[in-house]
Amino acid sequence: FKKELEELKELPAQTKDGHVVELVGNIGTPKDIEGVIRNGGQGVGLYRTEFLYMDSDEMPSEEKQFEAYKEVLEGMKDMPIIIRTLDIGGDKKLPYLQLDEEMNPFLGLRAVRLCFVEKDLFKTQLRAILRASAFGKALVMFPMISNVDEVRQAKAILDECRKELDAENIAYDKDLKVGVMVEIPSAAVCADIIAKEVDFFSIGTNDLCQYTLAVDRMNENVSYLYQPFNPAILRLVHNVIKASHEHEGKFTGMCGEMAGEPLAALILLGLGLDEFSMSASSIPQIKKIIRSVTLKEAQEIAQKALELATADEVIAMVTEELKKLN
Ligand code: PEP
Ligand code: MG
Repeated sequence: FKKELEELKELPAQTKDGHVVELVGNIGTPKDIEGVIRNGGQGVGLYRTEFLYMDSDEMPSEEKQFEAYKEVLEGMKDMPIIIRTLDIGGDKKLPYLQLDEEMNPFLGLRAVRLCFVEKDLFKTQLRAILRASAFGKALVMFPMISNVDEVRQAKAILDECRKELDAENIAYDKDLKVGVMVEIPSAAVCADIIAKEVDFFSIGTNDLCQYTLAVDRMNENVSYLYQPFNPAILRLVHNVIKASHEHEGKFTGMCGEMAGEPLAALILLGLGLDEFSMSASSIPQIKKIIRSVTLKEAQEIAQKALELATADEVIAMVTEELKKLN
């Protein structure tokens, strides 16, 4: 089994008929890249930067952040690294940042919403990301985008940082790609509007399920409703991928747990997902599944899934399809 994984590591993530996708890892700290490389990941689809803040007693300085981002970029050679800006709020707090108590923290001042209020904090991070982008292939991604105004606002602040660095003669990647997480239903529904303003999407199914299905992702009493295979989620995922592909050169990835779920792999592949980002240890298994079908077969499975009425029906159908492959 170990030998099989070793061999898989060297093989491309492509279907039998040569359709290539990207299999990348989710990381929280620079030391996580070791696992991504060991499992044959081709980059990082989600670098959750909040750990840098949560593991610290004070706001991490621009320098400290720059060093961490640079370490990841250099460690992964020229592979793409999607650095997500701070996603704090919701269930995540910072001891050194006083915030109001909220009745519904997951619907409150979280992620970019908080960064717009704490603009200095946001700019410090964006400057660190820009500076690090001179040392590898960085992409920047904004979490919890709910409408196109927020995309424009985030990009305008990024531009302010670019201008500051220009004035200070500090190098950064002038071609830095900018994307957003699609994890709020409004963004998924209006993906065609948002696609015009970004280079890529990454679907965050953990929150997308929570918000679409109105199920607290941490609440066991309603966890039976938390269902990535719910037709509503599949339709949203489909819509987002289509919207990105209508613009040349734009792509859609997925960095929620669904991307590393073997039962979802054939559907996502068939829907046209370009990049799958997951915990590193899931990469070989997903690669094996992708290598065992043609794109056309996966498209037929995806089409079938879109026509089913319930999550259970979808799961039963893909379970059968997966069995046929083995
Ligand atoms: C998601 O919501 O799917 C996601 C990847 O982000 P996080 O789990 O960090 O909220
Ligand atoms: Mg999320």
